[in-house]
Amino acid sequence: MKCAEVRDLLGNYMDGDLTERMMQRIEKHLLRCAECAYEARSMEQARDLLRRGVDHPMVSEQLGERILRQLAQRYPHLRTDQRDDEPLSLPFLPEE
Ligand SMILES: [Zn+2]
Repeated sequence: MKCAEVRDLLGNYMDGDLTERMMQRIEKHLLRCAECAYEARSMEQARDLLRRGVDHPMVSEQLGERILRQLAQRYPHLRTDQRDDEPLSLPFLPEE
């Protein structure tokens, strides 16, 4: 299995969203290939952080709002019609 194939499937692998055979092939590759194993580990950590961030927001409301404002300035097409005095919501975080 090539590294590029493994990288493509890493996300699905993390979700357990592959056939048993595929899972095993990727596992085997990860055992032999330090680079892909590193990639898998970083991805796992990022997903873990993201999950925890959703459950227990890590940024304070104030900081979150500042980041959102900066994002809105940088990417005007993301801007919504919210008024300034309304709380901003995080558009990129899934809502439960
Ligand atoms: Zn590899």
